[in-house]
Amino acid sequence: MCGIIGYIGDRCASDILISGLSHLEYRGYDSSGVALMHGNEIDIYKAPGKLINLIEELKSKQDVCAKSHIGIGHIRWATHGLPTTTNAHPHTSNCNNLTLVHNGIIENYQELKEELIKVGSVFKSQTDTEVAAHLIAYEYEKTHDLLKAMQSAVKKIKGAFAFCAIHKSEPDKIVVAKRNAPLVIGVGNGENFIASDIPAMIEYTKKAIYLTDYQVGVVQKDSIQIFDKDDNLTANKIEYLPFEAVAISKLGYKHFMLKEIHEQSDVVRNVLGGRLLSPDKEVNLNEFKLNNDEINKISRVQIIACGTSLHAGMVGKYIIEKFTKIPVDVEPSSEYIYRDTIADKNTLVIGISQSGETADTITAIKQVKECGSHIAIITNRTDSTMARLADSLLPVDAGIEVSVAATKSYMAQLISLYLLSMKIMEVKDKNSAKNPEIMKLKQELLELPSKIEILLENTDNIQRIAKKYSNYKNFIFIARGINFPSALEGALKLKEISYINATGYCAGELKHGPIAMLDENMPVLAILNTGIVYDKVLSNCEEARARQAKLIGVTNYLAEKDERLFDDIIKIPSGSDLISPAINIVVLQLLAYYIAEYLGKDVDQPRNLAKSVTVE
Ligand code: GLU
Repeated sequence: MCGIIGYIGDRCASDILISGLSHLEYRGYDSSGVALMHGNEIDIYKAPGKLINLIEELKSKQDVCAKSHIGIGHIRWATHGLPTTTNAHPHTSNCNNLTLVHNGIIENYQELKEELIKVGSVFKSQTDTEVAAHLIAYEYEKTHDLLKAMQSAVKKIKGAFAFCAIHKSEPDKIVVAKRNAPLVIGVGNGENFIASDIPAMIEYTKKAIYLTDYQVGVVQKDSIQIFDKDDNLTANKIEYLPFEAVAISKLGYKHFMLKEIHEQSDVVRNVLGGRLLSPDKEVNLNEFKLNNDEINKISRVQIIACGTSLHAGMVGKYIIEKFTKIPVDVEPSSEYIYRDTIADKNTLVIGISQSGETADTITAIKQVKECGSHIAIITNRTDSTMARLADSLLPVDAGIEVSVAATKSYMAQLISLYLLSMKIMEVKDKNSAKNPEIMKLKQELLELPSKIEILLENTDNIQRIAKKYSNYKNFIFIARGINFPSALEGALKLKEISYINATGYCAGELKHGPIAMLDENMPVLAILNTGIVYDKVLSNCEEARARQAKLIGVTNYLAEKDERLFDDIIKIPSGSDLISPAINIVVLQLLAYYIAEYLGKDVDQPRNLAKSVTVE
């Protein structure tokens, strides 16, 4: 997690570092800090809590800060040690000559720490990171060369890291290193930037060099040198960044989350654009690189993902199995890694991650790649580690998502999965493009943006219900079939941003345990769509009603006689069961948003969470 920033050039370093950190705040926000170098001095400023505390701290230091044109900064998501000022980065060696920021986890930090204590290192913090600062400083004593010190140190470190280090004796450079954590160098004119993610520097440059694992780099004002894992000089290509600074502004919305919810109709248009032209045409999905023979040989599909992406994968299972008759397993990446998974060259593995940097999913993908399976990646970040591991990089095109709670990226993942399942089906069954059910789904996909827009234009009822229920401490979300993942995702959204204890269940499971929880203090939100499970969910609502639970129905159809069951009803535009997850989720996102907003929560940066989960 966490965000790293570095700058070397002629501008005021603290301004660049603070502006960069503000764009990385979505990655972690329990404490922050900067190290500013001027001459052979390094000044360090740190503050616990959100970035605003560091900004306040720096206000009185403007004169000192203005002198510095080289610096490193960090916004932390604590893994080792409380989020205190002492544990905040940057960390230093004994005599403060070396200063370091780190993203990741040093797995062998205990062993290294014991060794370093024996040679005189004195530790100030509880972090794993401080071990790296002492280790690099220890190596530095042998060669008096920061690059060489970093190269030796990283060979002794186990785990994941992105490092930026500066040294008082080498005041013209920042030395960086990376393994299993993101790090990108922004290439400027007479200045260079380092960041965990593009938004931190897109205002200043559109050219970047992506470091790959095991590389170490020396970044100076006018040069960038990259070394491979055998310490040989190497050349990484300079890439053009496909992002605009404007994509990272709220554009008048109170929160990024609300803006991103409102962008979903365009996201659907983007993902479908050029790929689904009309209900009677086959899907164009050139991004899927298997040829027809290989597609016909797919014997199983495994979807690996975490959190919201996992829920998109669960919807994907329904659609892929329905259309292709290929068995699909969906599994959290963190579980997939630590068992004997069965995959071979006829297995299609789909990895889904908003950031493309989700450590668990990356590990799982690397593991299964060795089985020869085809790896399709669905990620919002085509510049990410996962995108680089892909055999097929499926379209998402949602634009940068800033709010920690994923919304538009989920929508894009769903649409990508619809396209993929239809593509596989059209290869397997040449007549399928004329199948009325498929033609209907295609029609509904094409109409989806306008249905989402109708929903977004009429949020008064959702806002009213959000206010009415905002004081409840617990919620149950129920649904069946293809909307069971919607119940999970709706409950997750509510948990993430309002801290209300919300749990999603398959409606049929209610009576096998959770029903014990029901009384007038436990609202139940039921998703009722026309389709084969409609009557079944309605019966489950009756059961909940009989226990005096407050009932909220989210429905595209409700017979008048059944309305009496519900305390509140949110009507959604009509649509088949198959398309309904893409409509229902917008309601559930809005409900979670307005409840959190009504409660005054920090919607875009909920406590304890980070947008890009780069630790296992
Ligand atoms: N493991 C380090 C710490 O706890 C870095 C965490 C991060 O990536 O923010 O300080």
